[in-house]
Amino acid sequence: MNPDDLSRWARDPRRSCGRRIAEPPESTVAPRNEHQRDRDRIVHSTAFRRLVYKTQVFINHEGDLFRTRLTHSLEVAQLARSMARALRLNEDLVEAIALAHDLGHTPFGHAGQDALQACMAAHGGFEHNLQSLRVVDLLEARYAAFDGLNLTFETREGILKHCSRANAERLLTAEPDGPALRFVRGGEPSLEAQLVNLADEMAYSAHDVDDGVRSGLLDLEQLQAVPLLARSLAAVQAEHPGLNARRSLHECLRRVLSAQVADLIACSAAAMAAADSAACSGAAIAPLEAGAEASPTVGVQPRMQTSAAMRDEALALKRFLFGELYRHPRVRHMTQLAYSVVTDLFAAYFSQPAQMTPDFAADADRPRAVADYIAGMTDRFALREHQRLTGQRLFSV
Ligand code: MG
Repeated sequence: MNPDDLSRWARDPRRSCGRRIAEPPESTVAPRNEHQRDRDRIVHSTAFRRLVYKTQVFINHEGDLFRTRLTHSLEVAQLARSMARALRLNEDLVEAIALAHDLGHTPFGHAGQDALQACMAAHGGFEHNLQSLRVVDLLEARYAAFDGLNLTFETREGILKHCSRANAERLLTAEPDGPALRFVRGGEPSLEAQLVNLADEMAYSAHDVDDGVRSGLLDLEQLQAVPLLARSLAAVQAEHPGLNARRSLHECLRRVLSAQVADLIACSAAAMAAADSAACSGAAIAPLEAGAEASPTVGVQPRMQTSAAMRDEALALKRFLFGELYRHPRVRHMTQLAYSVVTDLFAAYFSQPAQMTPDFAADADRPRAVADYIAGMTDRFALREHQRLTGQRLFSV
């Protein structure tokens, strides 16, 4: 989208708060804007390629058709871009945030993260959002002039979705006007960052239903307990009697996503229009650019939102997934094994750092180096390393 056509509430790539290490604008024949450059750096990163072998709910070896963190990130980017276009927000920024939002995830989804959190409890903790920022700020080693990817403030702000107060204060000592500021002073991130958060929830709720049914852990009958799914399935079956179960489910989920996207666009567009009117009648506008001078809690600022009814429907779907899928005995069994793998790996590298690659082995902050090393692993690599270091074979890969 031409920056001149962006909504007044969008982040304009020409007015970026910039990179930690200043870089000149591109001087090629077809220069990219700053957020397009961010997106391309993310796509070319090592951490991004690893997402293909990292899982969300199902362990990577369980089947070829389940979502991985890579396909999840692509689905989030697709949903968020469609909504950004409709709302005249910055599509490139949305895409960059969406593609990077899970870069800090450990192998084995939440089980891996829980295990690393426990291992790091006495060493400053472990948070996956913070780890995503650490990946793009520090751990990627691709550029001659700087560590990490040296992304713009706006992309980094979107990546740092959550952050504890203690970690925010620690980040601020190194970067006083950095993206951690809003966790201390309050305020919302950009509309683009808010949009990616909402797209993330929509994407995983829909694809976890799909993967849950594909795995045999859920069946269509159970989905009747979720009004949003039940109504959609009934409509599909009424319009297409005799359609087989798999196609019915895809059609149902497609319609659920479309309904959520339409609802979010309508409600958010209304919020943006209301803020426009308030601004036209003289209300103060909250500054769009973050930074030490801005006061993000004062003034008009719209929020990305869904209707209360859709929020309740989405919540019911999440509760269903939590109870019936994430806590399913088979999933729990796998996550317990995954937890053990990460815990064992942490102990093994902590006592024998030379088992890591030399740059990690040489790091003086050993607990953090071990956490970084493990967090960067794919599921398969973690399982192979676990077998090599402990002699145990907990999963077959
Ligand atoms: Mg996600």
